[in-house]
Order: sequence, then structure tokens, then C-alpha cells
Amino acid sequence: MFAIFLCYATIGLLPIAVMGNREHDTTIKRLIAMLNIVTPEYLNTQGFRERFWSKIDKNGPVPEHMPHLGPCWIWTAFKTPAGYGKIATTRPFYPIFAHHASWIIHFGPIPHGLWVLHKCDTPPCLRPDHLFLGTCKDNCNDRDSKGRGRIPRGEEHGSHKLTTVEVVKIRDLYAAGGISQRALGEMFRVSERAVHWIVHRRHWAHI
Ligand SMILES: [Zn+2]
Repeated sequence: MFAIFLCYATIGLLPIAVMGNREHDTTIKRLIAMLNIVTPEYLNTQGFRERFWSKIDKNGPVPEHMPHLGPCWIWTAFKTPAGYGKIATTRPFYPIFAHHASWIIHFGPIPHGLWVLHKCDTPPCLRPDHLFLGTCKDNCNDRDSKGRGRIPRGEEHGSHKLTTVEVVKIRDLYAAGGISQRALGEMFRVSERAVHWIVHRRHWAHI
């Protein structure tokens, strides 16, 4: 029984290696076909697409910090505790993230080492133009800039009082020169530190 499990677990790791490498050879392709492993081709089959699209609500919330993106497409089926959608594949016990499936369907394989991140900061969102590729580091920066990371809460409050328009104005004024970060802080009723993070794009990096 354990041997069977071990074998299955090993097989399960294959697509991770294969989908990140475009130069996989014919032998591996045959193996994938034989084992019915998840591939971009599989995600584009009619059966999968019907299942996928039937679980999406295209009238989700409009991101407050980026309203020009339009409404999120929300995954309505199973979600992880962090809110990311998951969808079953032909491999039992190996569901994939719904936003990964969306990326692969719309843009092709996810390059090895890159993450699919959300511009809209909405984990269950699958809308392709709300997604972007980044590194693990980008993910941390993105998270920090949106206030979910390791930056102390007391200090981050300062920049969260602002609107998008005010953040753009702060950057414009600072770039124009002649005004200090402290003066900008007083002008916009936030701390000097908050202004520092904004002009150096540690906060509001998505704008
Ligand atoms: Zn979205």
C-alpha cells in the first residue's frame, strides 16, 4: 500500500517539472498522455473548460485601489483557507489552483520559478487581466505593499489613510522637488515615514 502511495506521489510531482520546461521530450509527453497528467492541452479540453467556467461569477467586486481593472471574476467553488480557488483535475488528490488554471488557459504554461499574482489583491479572482507573473520576492513585496506582510501595523496606518489620487499627487510633488517628505506628510496628514515608503514604492507599489 505504501509502495503504491509512493509511486503515486512521485507521478504527481512530474507535471510540476514538465509544465515549467518547454523542452520536454517525446518520451515524457507520452508518459503524460499515458498517466493523464494535467497539461495546458488538458485544461483546454471541453470537459474541463465547461466545469471551469460554470464556477465563475463575473460580477465580483471592483478593486477599490484599482477601479479601472473592472469587476473581479470570483471562483465560487472550493477555496483554500486563504481564499484561493481550487479545481479538481483528472488526478485525484491533485487539484490545481483555479487562478493557475486561468493563467494557463489564457496565456499558456507558467514559467518555472514564477508565481501567478493578483493585481486586484483578491485571492479567489481568476480574471486574466487581473493576474500577473512575478517571483517569490515580488509576491512578498506585493503583499507588503498591500499591508498583509511583515511591516508593523502602526507605521502602515499612515499610508492607508490616503486615496489613490493622493498617492499619485505625493509622488508627483516629491519628484518635482523643492518639498520635503516631512512637509508632504503634514500636507496629507500622514507620517513622514509613510511618505518615505510611498515615494520609494514600498507602499502602494501597484500604482
Ligand atoms: Zn480581480
